[in-house]
Amino acid sequence: MADPVLASVGVGANLGDAQAAVRKAIQDLAGLPQSELRAVSSLYASAPLDADGPDYVNAVVQLQTELSPHALLMALQAIEQQAGRLRPYRNAPRTLDLDILLYGDLELNRSDLHIPHPRMWQRAFVVVPLAEIAPQMVSSAQLEALAGQSLRCLHA
Ligand code: ADP
Ligand code: MG
Repeated sequence: MADPVLASVGVGANLGDAQAAVRKAIQDLAGLPQSELRAVSSLYASAPLDADGPDYVNAVVQLQTELSPHALLMALQAIEQQAGRLRPYRNAPRTLDLDILLYGDLELNRSDLHIPHPRMWQRAFVVVPLAEIAPQMVSSAQLEALAGQSLRCLHA
């Protein structure tokens, strides 16, 4: 059996009841096979970047998982599909977006899977929740670089 790896997963939604979609997705992530939920950030709201539609709700979770990177991607896409996600065009508003941000210290550049997620360090809605649950993974310079992006913490 594979050694478990700590993976960070970004959760985002901006259609319908986005907060409910994010909370449901976190429950679904907690139920993934060969995986254990280790940390869950607060939920954060932000205006969409390079996209239209209502505000996004985002969170980051950490999973200890024995799933391979591709098996984890398949599992995340199955959860997105269950949430009714359509992909009419790039950056379209979505009911649910699940991204693998980090998978241990793996670096992978395949056509269908890039780890670390290529745009994660440019996005406050990823870096701020990651820093909340894993402060040792984020430097103060990385946080300061994103201070101009407005983000509201949605306290439970
Ligand atoms: P985005 O999340 O960039 O807005 P999508 O969710 O529509 O876009 O993802 C499009 C494709 O991105 C997926 O089909 C998947 O194969 C690919 N992809 C590449 N790297 C990753 C990653 N680290 N996590 C999730 N999907 C990824
Ligand atoms: Mg995605």
